[in-house]
Amino acid sequence: MKVPFIDIKRYEPGFVDAVTAKFGEMVTNAQFMGGDEVSLLEQKLAPLMGAGFVVSCANGTDALQLALRALGVGRGDTVLVPDVTFWATFEAVVNVGATPATLDVDLADGGISVAALRQALADLSPTAVIIAHLYGWASAHLLDIRNICKQAGVHLIEDGAQCFGTLIDSRPVLEGALISTTSFYPAKVLGGAGDGGAVLTNDAGLAEKVRQLANHGRTSHYGYGEVGWNSRLDSLQAAFLNLSLGHFEARLASRRRSARYYRDTLPALGIQLMDAPAQYAENGYCNVCLFDDEQLRKRVQLRLSEEGIGFGNIYPGVISTQAGAAQYTRGHVGGTAGKKLCAGVLNLPLFAYMTDIELERVTAVVAQAMATA
Ligand SMILES: *Cc1c(COP(=O)(O)O)cnc(C)c1O
Repeated sequence: MKVPFIDIKRYEPGFVDAVTAKFGEMVTNAQFMGGDEVSLLEQKLAPLMGAGFVVSCANGTDALQLALRALGVGRGDTVLVPDVTFWATFEAVVNVGATPATLDVDLADGGISVAALRQALADLSPTAVIIAHLYGWASAHLLDIRNICKQAGVHLIEDGAQCFGTLIDSRPVLEGALISTTSFYPAKVLGGAGDGGAVLTNDAGLAEKVRQLANHGRTSHYGYGEVGWNSRLDSLQAAFLNLSLGHFEARLASRRRSARYYRDTLPALGIQLMDAPAQYAENGYCNVCLFDDEQLRKRVQLRLSEEGIGFGNIYPGVISTQAGAAQYTRGHVGGTAGKKLCAGVLNLPLFAYMTDIELERVTAVVAQAMATA
């Protein structure tokens, strides 16, 4: 039996019909931009994500650029980013005209190294720091990191593209953030029918600035107080997300259940799993197996491929050594834990509504591979 790495089309009974009916009604009325669906989505997301203000936008990469621009980060500014994250975290800094520098990561949780952060704050005098809450949890030192940045007078942006639904001490993880972002790319935990994203903050002024920048810097229909761009979320996208939110608790519970299954079964097979630090309830976005031996990881992957079991390597390489980084980066701060993480990471299938049979099949193949490797 084959098991895909991710299958995002396991909709609940009736979901596709509800979307079709909704889209039909909206197309009939040419209800494409703004309107009720977009504001309804923002209203629903605010309490769910623990933010006073939610501003929807075109995608998660734009959300980072909007957050940076709203904070006034631009030419001449240095922004610290993790060495292990999606490329967009780095790219956003360059796209607003600022200069990125990478921070080594902590192998215990995939977050940034606090020692590297302290060193970079002292050596590089950055204006801002972006951290990314990868895999479905965040750093064990999140509260420290927030405090350190606050003490240093440095803006902290939290890239929450992968932590939708994650809780810290039973509260939404982004609740205590100065400003944070998310993505509704279809494969994310709350996925759209295309691209989408949002910026979250408790600061009314920042929220207003983000909203203005995402709509051409408009102050009125033909009045422009800023140079922004078009980063609006369209109404069909918002409607799809609103309908998806109706099933979100069930999808989240299913992901968590599968994540739990892996945590309960894989260690006995000799697989080392990255743990979500104790204060978090993970959202089941990702499963993270860590191999000290890269050759063993590759042999396990070969077995998975032979048996039609999908897998991922999130991420296979650090940011600092990407070909596209060299001409923009101010350098790397800290050690090489990020490289070790990238060399050792293997992600097993994890998505909403995986069946018990699929989970058992994945672990059976991993068990075979480990026994014969
Ligand atoms: C997906 C992702 C993004 C970018 O989101 P898009 O909506 O695809 O632009 C940024 N950061 C991280 C960590 C992501 O996983």
